[in-house]
Amino acid sequence: MKSIIEKLTEDMKVKITERKARKILLQVPEGLKIYASEIAGNLEMTGPEVIISIEPCFGACDLRDNEAKKMGCDLLVHIGHADFGVRTEVPVIHHEFRMEYDFRKILIENIKKLEKFKKIGVMTTIQYVDSVPQIKQTLEHNGKEVLVGNNKKTGYQGHVLGCDFSAVNSLENKVDCFIYFGSGRFHPSGFLTEKPFFVIDSERGEIFDISPEIRKEMIKKELSIEKARNMKNFVIYISTKPGQMHPERVHKIKKKLLSIGKEVIVVSADMLIPEKLLGIKCDVVVNTACPRLKEDSLQFKKIILNPEDVDKL
Ligand code: SF4
Repeated sequence: MKSIIEKLTEDMKVKITERKARKILLQVPEGLKIYASEIAGNLEMTGPEVIISIEPCFGACDLRDNEAKKMGCDLLVHIGHADFGVRTEVPVIHHEFRMEYDFRKILIENIKKLEKFKKIGVMTTIQYVDSVPQIKQTLEHNGKEVLVGNNKKTGYQGHVLGCDFSAVNSLENKVDCFIYFGSGRFHPSGFLTEKPFFVIDSERGEIFDISPEIRKEMIKKELSIEKARNMKNFVIYISTKPGQMHPERVHKIKKKLLSIGKEVIVVSADMLIPEKLLGIKCDVVVNTACPRLKEDSLQFKKIILNPEDVDKL
């Protein structure tokens, strides 16, 4: 049987040879970093020199285009995430990472937890998009009606990103509950739905109800907006990551905040961490980069708002 690395590099080697790359910058997500040196070694066998970028890489929003240019690379190989159209000067090969996992056993063993629900919306991450038909079929065999939308950025059925739930947003009024299947809480905890919401967790091998956590997130969001109304010093954060940089959004937010009497400054950084704000007069950070930054608000000891929250001030 082929190893995870063999599978991962086989397809990439063909694409790299076609591109006639001389020097590659390789980006690997945190979870696959243990394989980075092996992947680089395999890719070098096709001819080009490979440099591994060890900057944290959480999504296809974070293509290290500038780093590739500075290193003199003529190709960026980005592993793990689906291409969602971020433009770069250095050409990119996106190599999605897929996992094989049979969710049917957990689903069948726990089907009673779903007995109250007839219409179900399903979603997952790029690693498991190939399992959407399997989940759909299993639920349908158990008398459910399954609704799955397409992700507007990647086109994949049922695919969600931590910042993009376009595959399921339109289902809110059509389903009785939602199911996320995959690993971890990062993705489902970003989907603020009023509907019951279950996670089929491939790591824990169980189904759990994440709705109470989602409700708490919704309440926290409302409280942050409420508190921010009385604050004076607003810092708008713009990221230099190519897929997280939205200058037009920053301009609009600044105009709105000034119109309601707030003091506003705009700051930029590749990634925002609390230390970078030391010495800056700041009560509220309006984050125009990765929307999941607000989950670190305790570390920041600041109110963190996302762009859509500013309209409610
Ligand atoms: S912006 Fe955040 S949630 Fe969206 S792809 Fe990038 S890291 Fe993931």
